[in-house]
Parts: sequence; C-alpha cells; structure tokens
Amino acid sequence: MFKLPKVMRAVVYRGVNDLRLETLPVPRITSAEILVRVAVCGVCPTDIKKIQHGTVAPPRVFGHETSGTIVRVGARVRGLREGDRVALHHHVPCLDCHACRHGAFAQCAQYKRTGITAGFEPAGGGYAEFVRVLPFCLPGVVKVPPRNTFDEGAMLEPVNTVLKAVHRLSLQRGDSVWVAGQGPIGLLFTRLLALRGIRVLASDRAEARLALAAKFGARLVLGADDPDFETQLDLATASNGLDAAVLAVPVDALVTRALQLVRGGGAVMLFAHTQRGSAIGVDPAAVCVDERSLVGSYSADVTLQKEVARLVFSRRLDVRGLVTHRFPLARTADAVRLAANPSVDSLKVVVAADTT
Ligand SMILES: [Zn+2]
Ligand SMILES: [Zn+2]
Repeated sequence: MFKLPKVMRAVVYRGVNDLRLETLPVPRITSAEILVRVAVCGVCPTDIKKIQHGTVAPPRVFGHETSGTIVRVGARVRGLREGDRVALHHHVPCLDCHACRHGAFAQCAQYKRTGITAGFEPAGGGYAEFVRVLPFCLPGVVKVPPRNTFDEGAMLEPVNTVLKAVHRLSLQRGDSVWVAGQGPIGLLFTRLLALRGIRVLASDRAEARLALAAKFGARLVLGADDPDFETQLDLATASNGLDAAVLAVPVDALVTRALQLVRGGGAVMLFAHTQRGSAIGVDPAAVCVDERSLVGSYSADVTLQKEVARLVFSRRLDVRGLVTHRFPLARTADAVRLAANPSVDSLKVVVAADTT
C-alpha cells in the first residue's frame, strides 16, 4: 500500500495573478471516493481566465486536466483499485435532469459543480500532489492503458471538448471547414476533422503552428494576415463554399467575418469566446434568409468518453507532439504565464509531478 504523507504541496490561488506554493493537508476521502496522486495536469485557458480576471473567489487549487495513480480507494467504490493509472473528469452530468435529457450536459446543475479537489472549494485541484475525487465524478474516471503516457491521459478532457464541438456541426465527408487559430485546441480540431474526411483550411499568425497544422492533416494553411486570404479560401472551397468555420481564438471581429464567409446554411462554431460581456454586430438576415447559424460548444460530453479514449490511446489522434513544455509543481505560475503568452514554439503546457 502506498505510504500516504500527512501533508502535501499545492499551488493555491490567493487572488488575481497570485499563485502560491503552500503546504496543505493531504485530502481525506470518504468510503465512496478515491484519492489520486497527480502525475500530470494540463494548463487550460479557462483556468488562466479565472486566475487573471479573478472571476471566482480565492482560495482555490485549480488544474483540471489531470492524470495520475490511484493511491486510496473507498470501501464502497467498485471497479477501481489502488495502483490504477487514470485520467479524471472534474465535471460529470447527472444524466437525469431536464438539461441532460436534452443532451445539454454542460447546463446540468450537477455538471456545473466541480467534483475534484485538493482542498478548499473544489476547483479541480490538479496543481497539487494529491486530489480527492467526489462520488459523482467517479463515472468520469478513465483507466490509462499501460503503453500510454500520463500526458495522453491528461489530454482526454480537452480532446473531449473538441470532439463534442465537432459533433455539434453537422458535417459531411468532403466538406470544407476553416479552423481559425492553430494552438493546441485548433490543432485538435484540425486533426479530428481531417480524420472524418473534412477538408480543413487552417489559419494562424505563427509559421510553426501552420507547419504543424499541415502535419495534422490541413489541406490548406493560411497566414491570418495574408492579403489574399479570401481569394485563397474561395479557390480551396471550389464552388460549394465554406461549410463551417471554427473559431479557436476569442477574437470578436472573426465572428462577423466568419458569418460572411460561410455558405448559406453553413455554421460558425464559437469555441474560445468564454469571456462574457462583449457585443458584436450580426445581420439578422444572415441567420434568417441565409440560414447561417452561430453555434457554441463548451466543456466535455461524458457520452463521448469511450470514443475519445479510443482515439487518443490508439494514437489515431496522437497528442504527444502537442505537449511542448512541462514545469514542476513549484513553477506552476510560470507554466500559467507561458500558456497565457505562448512563445513561438509552445503549444500545450503541463505541470508534471515527476519533474520536481
Ligand atoms: Zn480544460
Ligand atoms: Zn443533469
């Protein structure tokens, strides 16, 4: 049995841009919970937003793209054992309420609760040595096969959010989709769409990211400021036009532009616009007469979990090349800073226990 210490290190959010390495008690579990020793936790833009804008009250321990090893299992928990390597989901819907019956899992009251914690108000807890998984989040625990890495486990949650968004666009093989932004999320869109036989037109400002987009299956890569952008897009979509646009960057002006660029009946997917409070001009006739739709997608869909695990663990969607930077727990603040201000060569940034 793993010898459990009494205290652990954790990075605590104490206020806007204030992350501190502190010593906390190792969480105690009930008989219906598990305790996981964190191996890897990805840095996610939604946490960065909370840290930089102070949208939730401190203190909290963030980090929700977590994988690790189970070190304690409550007596009433079935199907999981100490020593299992697992990936976690911090939001799990009840599957029984009005929202869930409509498949709107991210709007379910249970889903909105966070069920993984390293202490304080549950907020993911991945930036700590140990996390406690509450009973309602146990259905979100996925075992990581022996041949796969903890990095791959930590990528299940972001991959799930992208696959959910792809499902929300009703696309057909051979369709043309513009994916704006080729950061880690944009690249996941590019690869998942290409795997479904979609012609992906990828754009970004960074050359290195465009090169990767081509490797991930994009048919055409375009510099975001290319003066011939629209002509090239036109040529590439032949006579059918653009079936959809995916905005993986939170730029308001892109929404209006994308709405003009998709064909009648096409859709614009907003994936990165997580900050409330801005307004954009939309010509209502573009929606009514041209039947263009604005679609959003947020967070993961538990019913896609098996498909996501198959894609990632079989490496049909090989996420290993996406993790470019790893930081020890003590340098979580640096990890967040880099993820918030990407360098030319940075994509997914993770905090990893084994590098401490
Ligand atoms: Zn995330
Ligand atoms: Zn529900």
